[in-house]
Amino acid sequence: MSPRTNWGGNLVYAATGLVEPVSIAELQQLLPTLESPRALGSRHSFSRVADTTGVQVSTASLPRSVEVDSDRSVVRVEGGVRYAELCPALDRAGLALANLASLSHITVAGAVATGTHGSGDDTGSLATQVRALEVVGWDGELRRLGPDHPDLPGAVVSLGRLGVVAALELAVEPSYEVAQTVVEQVPLDRVLADLDAVTALGCSVSLFTTWTSPDVLDQVWVKRRGDRPTSPDPAGALGGRLAEGQRHPIPCVDPAPATEQGGVPGPWWTRLPHFRADHVPSAGREIQSEWLVPRRQAVGAIEELRGMADRLTPVLQVCEIRTVAADDLWLSGAHGTDVVGLHFTWHLDPAAVAAVLPELETRLAPFAARPHWGKVYREGELDPALLYPRWGDWRDLVRRWGASG
Ligand SMILES: Cc1cc2nc3c(=O)[nH]c(=O)nc-3n(C[C@H](O)[C@H](O)[C@H](O)COP(=O)(O)OP(=O)(O)OC[C@H]3O[C@@H](n4cnc5c(N)ncnc54)[C@H](O)[C@@H]3O)c2cc1C
Repeated sequence: MSPRTNWGGNLVYAATGLVEPVSIAELQQLLPTLESPRALGSRHSFSRVADTTGVQVSTASLPRSVEVDSDRSVVRVEGGVRYAELCPALDRAGLALANLASLSHITVAGAVATGTHGSGDDTGSLATQVRALEVVGWDGELRRLGPDHPDLPGAVVSLGRLGVVAALELAVEPSYEVAQTVVEQVPLDRVLADLDAVTALGCSVSLFTTWTSPDVLDQVWVKRRGDRPTSPDPAGALGGRLAEGQRHPIPCVDPAPATEQGGVPGPWWTRLPHFRADHVPSAGREIQSEWLVPRRQAVGAIEELRGMADRLTPVLQVCEIRTVAADDLWLSGAHGTDVVGLHFTWHLDPAAVAAVLPELETRLAPFAARPHWGKVYREGELDPALLYPRWGDWRDLVRRWGASG
C-alpha cells in the first residue's frame, strides 16, 4: 500500500490497511475481523484522530441517502454524506441546518465526531444538531441511540472510538437567507472593549487576522440571517471600512473560493461556510490548530495572542476568532460553557508549528483551553480529565462498547 496522507498533507497515516465497504451489511461483517479499525471520513483532520495502527475503514463508498422527515423536523443522513451533498437537498425541501463549518466538503459523521463548529453566540457546534445515531459497533452489531438514550451525549463527539456511524438524525428548521459583509482594518482595542457587542453583530461573526499589525484585525466577517432583526451597520459599529469586492480570509489570496459577500442575501448554505462547495477550500497545503476558551475569559486569551504576535506571524497564514454556544456533549469543546475558538491556519511547516506550540499552549493553559480534536496540538501534554468533567464516563462508555484502535 502506498503512503496515504490527510487532506492538509501534514500527516502520513500509520494505518497498515484501508478497507472501503459498499454496504452496511458488508461493514457489519468486516468490522469484527479487522485489527484496530478506525473510521475515515473525508480526511480533513490534522491530528491523528482518524489514524490507527490497524485498518482504516473509509465511508466513501457506503450508501449516501438523505431522508427528510418534515413532520419531526429531522433529516436522516448516512455517515459518509458530506455537507455539500446534504445542504442542497435540504434547501430543495425548504429546510436548513442551524449552522455550518467554514467548508462543506467534510462528512457529517466526521465533523460531529470531532466537535466541529461554525460561529454564533446562540448556535452550538454541528454535533448539537444530532438527535439520533445509528452505529455499527466493533462487534458488527448495529445499535440505534435515540434522543432519550443515556449514551447519546457521550456518543456524539466520539473521536471515532465507538464504531462506525452508519447514519445520523439531525435537527432541521425552515430555510432562511443569509447575507455576509466583510469589514477591514478593525481596531483590536475597540473589539476587545465590547467583544459581546461585536459577536452579536450577526448570527455568525469571524475575526480574521495575521497578527502582522497586532493592534488591527485584518477582517471581520459578519453573517446575518434574513429572518432576524438587523443590528447596527457593521462597519460603523466596528470602526473599520467595508471591503470593496470579494475577500479571502488570508489577505492577498485569490478570493474565488470564498462564498459571496457584499451583503447580497442568498440561501443559508451558500453563505454560512466561508468557502464555496464547488471550489477547493482554503489555501490547501496547510496545518490547523484551535483552542476553545470559556467566553468570559476570551479577552485575556486574545491578549495573550497579541503578546506573542511576532512569534506567530512567521508560521501563520491566518488566525480566526469566533464564538460557539455551550452544550452538554461530553467531549465537546463547548461542554458546559459558551466558548470562543482561537483558530490558527499555519503554513505547511510541521517543524515550525511544533516550535510555536509550547509557548502558545503555555499562554492559553490558565484559560483551561480545550484543543480541537481534529487539529494539531501537543497530544502528549493533554490531560483530558482536567478539561472534560465527563471524561471518566466517556472512557467507561468506550470500554462498554468494546473500544478499538
Ligand atoms: C480547510 C478546512 C477547514 C476546516 N474548517 C473547520 C471549521 O470551520 N470548524 C471546525 O470546527 N473544524 C474545521 N475543520 C476541521 C474539520 O472539520 C474536522 O477535522 C472534521 O472532523 C473533518 O471531518 P472528516 O469527514 O474529514 O473526518 P476525518 O478527518 O476523516 O475523521 C475525523 C474523525 O471522525 C471519525 N469519523 C469519520 N467518519 C466516521 C463515521 N462514519 N463513524 C464514526 N467516526 C467517524 C474518524 O474516526 C475521526 O476520529 C476544517 C478542516 C479543514 C481541512
